[in-house]
Amino acid sequence: MPSDQIRHVRLSSVVLPLDRPISDAKVLTGRQRPMTEIVFLFAQIATAQDQHGIGFSYSKRAGGPAQYAHAKEIAANLIGEDPSDIGKVYDKLLWAGASVGRSGVATQAIAAIDIALWDLKAKRAGLPLAKLLGAHRDSVRAYNTSGGFLHAPIEEVKERASKSLADGIGGIKIKVGQPDTRIDLDRVRAVREHLGDGVPLMVDANQQWDRPTALRFGRVLEQFDLVWIEEPLDAYDAEGHAELAAALDTPIATGEMVSSVGEHVRLIEARAADIIQPDAPRIGGITPFLKLATLADHHGLQLAPHFAMEIHLHLAAAYPREPWVEHFEWLNPLFNERLETLDGRMLVPDRPGLGFTTTEQCAAWTVDSCEFGTR
Ligand SMILES: [Mg+2]
Repeated sequence: MPSDQIRHVRLSSVVLPLDRPISDAKVLTGRQRPMTEIVFLFAQIATAQDQHGIGFSYSKRAGGPAQYAHAKEIAANLIGEDPSDIGKVYDKLLWAGASVGRSGVATQAIAAIDIALWDLKAKRAGLPLAKLLGAHRDSVRAYNTSGGFLHAPIEEVKERASKSLADGIGGIKIKVGQPDTRIDLDRVRAVREHLGDGVPLMVDANQQWDRPTALRFGRVLEQFDLVWIEEPLDAYDAEGHAELAAALDTPIATGEMVSSVGEHVRLIEARAADIIQPDAPRIGGITPFLKLATLADHHGLQLAPHFAMEIHLHLAAAYPREPWVEHFEWLNPLFNERLETLDGRMLVPDRPGLGFTTTEQCAAWTVDSCEFGTR
């Protein structure tokens, strides 16, 4: 297929309501309110040869309108470009918004477009994105997070853990990081006893411990044979994470909250984690994610991307070391297709691209949209 040209771009802002308010430790320490919705920035790209790609970025609690506004300012730069030249197009969009930097909202706005370009490229090749990138596996170990939040009483957490395992999900993660670590301890013990030994169990403190608490409580948690302790400390405390990772046998995972490859590099160079948890929409898309993945593998790190399994399943499948993918059903109302889990693993779909189309409900939840080029 000869070179193609982007002829049309549609951006939309979609507000997904959650079934119930969600609380992690950031809410219990009073830093954030319970989460009631997630705001998505969707980018849909069409080419002269009638190829199509769709991608999304997202924000929780604040930032959605800013992502949409920035994307709207730079999207006209796409018209006429060859959609296969993703690196070149990415740089063009970066330069268009250079004044607001190469991290955070600025690149999260580009992320939706970048992901749409990768989706389009894989569809054009007739391949699932994982295959286009070069997959190491056709399925990825999956763990559930959505059942283990702190707003849920422990009996509900146990019930939902059992349901996740019955549904073919391999691991269970629960939230900790409450002001009273004794309550955390009771919940971890209850879930470990409920699951029995051998079922992969992780905990996530969502950055709410200080260094002494993380070390002391991390030692208490060693008895539960956890797969990892996630975000024990402030996301930007690279040195604190490194000291903890050196002191504990339990692996340390972090990285979901940082918003660029550069910030991840600082964590990697400090040896802050055994497992990195980049989030492609949050760090600017698939293009920067792939650069980071190469670096992470070079440093011998494990990978467990944060959230957005619809995108990360493909990226995890293409990572050399056996990764994990995080299971959340929250995005299901947005998409017509479902990801399958079997024997503890999530199966990479054989549909071309990311393998998703948006629902009528997604269209109904659209609060703003704009278009560039010609249909
Ligand atoms: Mg987390």
